[in-house]
Amino acid sequence: MAGMTEHAGGSGGRLGLRDIVGLDERYYANAFGPRTPICFTEGRGMHLWDTEGRRYLDFFGGVAVNAVGHCHEKVVAAIAAQASRLMHVSNHYYIEGQALLAERLCAITSMGRAFIGNSGAEANEAAFKLARMYWHKKGRPERNEIISLRGSFHGRTMSTLAATGQDAFHAPFKSLIRGYHYCPINDADAFGSMASSNPNVAAAIVEPVQGEGGVHPLEDGYLKKVRGICDEAGILLIFDEIQTGMGRTGRMLGHEHYGVKPDVVTLAKALGGGFPIGAMCATEEAATGFGPGDHGTTYGGGPLACAAALAVIDVIVGEGLVANSAAMGSYLIAELNRALAGSPGVTAIRGLGLMVGIELAERDSSDVVASMLKRGYVVGKAGSRVTRLLPPLIVTRREIDGLVGALAEELG
Ligand SMILES: *Cc1c(COP(=O)(O)O)cnc(C)c1O
Repeated sequence: MAGMTEHAGGSGGRLGLRDIVGLDERYYANAFGPRTPICFTEGRGMHLWDTEGRRYLDFFGGVAVNAVGHCHEKVVAAIAAQASRLMHVSNHYYIEGQALLAERLCAITSMGRAFIGNSGAEANEAAFKLARMYWHKKGRPERNEIISLRGSFHGRTMSTLAATGQDAFHAPFKSLIRGYHYCPINDADAFGSMASSNPNVAAAIVEPVQGEGGVHPLEDGYLKKVRGICDEAGILLIFDEIQTGMGRTGRMLGHEHYGVKPDVVTLAKALGGGFPIGAMCATEEAATGFGPGDHGTTYGGGPLACAAALAVIDVIVGEGLVANSAAMGSYLIAELNRALAGSPGVTAIRGLGLMVGIELAERDSSDVVASMLKRGYVVGKAGSRVTRLLPPLIVTRREIDGLVGALAEELG
């Protein structure tokens, strides 16, 4: 790829790749899947540079995190300014940025109240706790079970793992947290019978587009039926928008495509543009689940994270990135279809906005990631058969043309 050997003026890191890999293999917890032997040291906009000075176009954005591109100057400036003023105070005191961000989040989600944590899993934990507390306060503590969808992903903490509808993730922990039930995706009848046969369901959680599960948008009409079933049974409906939120799908929130409103919505990933943060927003009614002392966090909603998120939201809105996501997402899917439809290596291309999956007939998705890196492109995977694209929302046609050309050579 053109420019692959240029770099940003220094690798930025102190150690060479071999030293870094050596330290990691000796000292870091052996918990991640096999890692790609590349270490990025600098990023700007759509680009990343590694220890060897190689440049890449980033079509994965740190798993949907770097929505405004790497090191956007406004986000960098907001973090630097806040860091030099005040980084942390306890939640025993009022925090200006937290109050401002809660207002912004409620406006974006049309919700009544926000709670801010440090990650997606924490946002979902807060949602589950809120749903259970909600019924507890209504004198129905037995209403403490959760419905989620098969193929879903909701996080790596114990309860979010339990909610994750994939056996491989939680087999060793299954017996520890009870009351999670998995419903097949896009099957409103199955959802209805699960909801009506179990009076103890507190809440249901769905991703408008399943991300880790392979980029599966929910079908039109399905969420409306789920909403109706939840209303009838009094079940709180939680939308996990941790991956689909903040413009990713071409609307500010993924569920806007479906014309259905949740009781609770969770956000993270793109919200901090790279700074760790997660948020749980609830309607005024659902938010009555929390009273004084019911939940807490040491770091969540701290000044630094809130300054970062406020800057990210300003950039997303100010630069029209939701509209760009919609336009570039349509263009990307159309170009992928033009270049790859009918090719024997590809069985499906699907997505919404800039959240796109290419289903592979035979090749392992890790192999495609490795080959695309050699071509100067960072792409991702969802499971072993789906190549996943989650570029920053600033992506342009020219960059998409380059990617599609490289993918056509690789998969065509
Ligand atoms: C990434 C993700 C999570 C977990 O977020 P963490 O910040 O890794 O805890 C939860 N739900 C969805 C849909 C996600 O994509």
